[in-house]
Amino acid sequence: MLRDADAMLAGGKTIAAVTRFTPLVDPILARFTWDMNTDYSGRRATIMGLGHFGGGVAAARWLARQGAIVTITDLADEKTLADSLAILADVPIAALHLDGHSEEDFRDADLVVVNPAVRPDSPWLDTARRAGARLRTEIELFMENCPARIVGVTGSNGKSTTAAMIAEILRASGRRTFLGGNIGGSLLEQLPQIGRDDWVVLELSSFQLRHFSQAAKPPHIAVVTGCTPNHLDWHRSFADYAAAKQRILAGQTPDDFAVLNARDAEVATWRPLVRGHLVPLPSSLIPFPCTGEGSSPLPPLAVPGEHNRINAACAAAAAMAAGCGDGEMRQGLRRFVGLPQRLECVADISGRRFYNDSASTTPESTIAALRSLDVHVWLLAGGAAKGCDFGPLAAEIVRHARGAAFFGAVRKKLLERVAAIDRRFPCIAVESLDEALQWCWMRCRSGEAIVLSPGCAGTDQFRNYRRRGERFVELVGRLHNP
Ligand code: ADP
Repeated sequence: MLRDADAMLAGGKTIAAVTRFTPLVDPILARFTWDMNTDYSGRRATIMGLGHFGGGVAAARWLARQGAIVTITDLADEKTLADSLAILADVPIAALHLDGHSEEDFRDADLVVVNPAVRPDSPWLDTARRAGARLRTEIELFMENCPARIVGVTGSNGKSTTAAMIAEILRASGRRTFLGGNIGGSLLEQLPQIGRDDWVVLELSSFQLRHFSQAAKPPHIAVVTGCTPNHLDWHRSFADYAAAKQRILAGQTPDDFAVLNARDAEVATWRPLVRGHLVPLPSSLIPFPCTGEGSSPLPPLAVPGEHNRINAACAAAAAMAAGCGDGEMRQGLRRFVGLPQRLECVADISGRRFYNDSASTTPESTIAALRSLDVHVWLLAGGAAKGCDFGPLAAEIVRHARGAAFFGAVRKKLLERVAAIDRRFPCIAVESLDEALQWCWMRCRSGEAIVLSPGCAGTDQFRNYRRRGERFVELVGRLHNP
């Protein structure tokens, strides 16, 4: 998973080489005889960035099973990567070069599996390119070897939710469906079970799309939920970020489908890029009544907020493009109960509800949270900056929240933004999530809610957003049983 894979880039420089397995194939000869797409047997594959999110581990295991000579290299050291290495204990890895990279791992490779968090202008990738190696991410490796039709979902917000909704509808229609990609869990291992008649739904991040090669096989159905500035610390500009997202449409043919959320001002301008059928979100879906059947063909949803109605509309359009009927679409959406850590109600203590929305890593998702809940909210927000503008979020906080505690690296910035709008708005900047929760807990009354919706990445204080959410739930549990 990408969101927090930046942690992988933070290692040292010296190289510790541990050779576990001696390659038997002459690498020079092997290069000249490689059948590009299917045969990895005897090829030298370098996994660049093992990471903690499963993609590197899955690629190493899968390539080793195909007979490739696998080298793993990562900037992090063996101790940091212990969890991922433990899963690979039974896999024949030719070489493990940790705590830094070495040139020969790129110069001599036939294939480099690039961790999506690696910047595309990395000099190591240049070395590999110049030496004629093929560069792939784990997700592209999966896509080029997958016989099933693929629905790809991208967007700045709502990717996981929309992808999961699509999978739910496809399953309700009786189609055998696999869900994977950035949502967690590589599907490479499941390739032997995936057939031509199955469906695969993949959440695709901007990092994964940015690394797509010229030869990338596009999804049969591409879905874009929206495009607002995000990860600008990595992409450098909004134009680059949007161009990465647009790669989901590249290579599609007239037989393919595109679902664009045209309510999003940026995505609305992408229509000329569509090469397949543009599937509109039916105008009767908008505006969406939040409850009741009304004139909307969307059923009532278990997940709150207009943003989720938009996600559902994108999912419905994608499922229709896949041939699902109206009844199947409604049944699938009815079954969708929401994903963990997205506006998830985790406790009710003496009439005070607690929501874990740790998956909110952009200001827009926190705005969506504030607009969705019909109670007075004490907000916990903050974390690491990603180049986003906090102005609109600050305005929304003042408009919708009872008070807010800001924590982490951007706490002062958020506090200043809010104070610039309303100096008397109840808020505080504290170091930690623990202090932020205590501050809100002291003030929250029965009938109100405490909401962790950070609007930022968590990498300044946590390994990833999941750990942040887990910590929140743990702290809330202690309020219950001090
Ligand atoms: P992503 O995979 O793009 O990060 P998720 O579905 O995991 O999106 O949701 C992450 C956060 O964004 C959650 O806080 C969720 O409530 C919020 N969210 C979901 N869909 C949208 C949307 N369409 N617009 C704004 N925020 C959204």
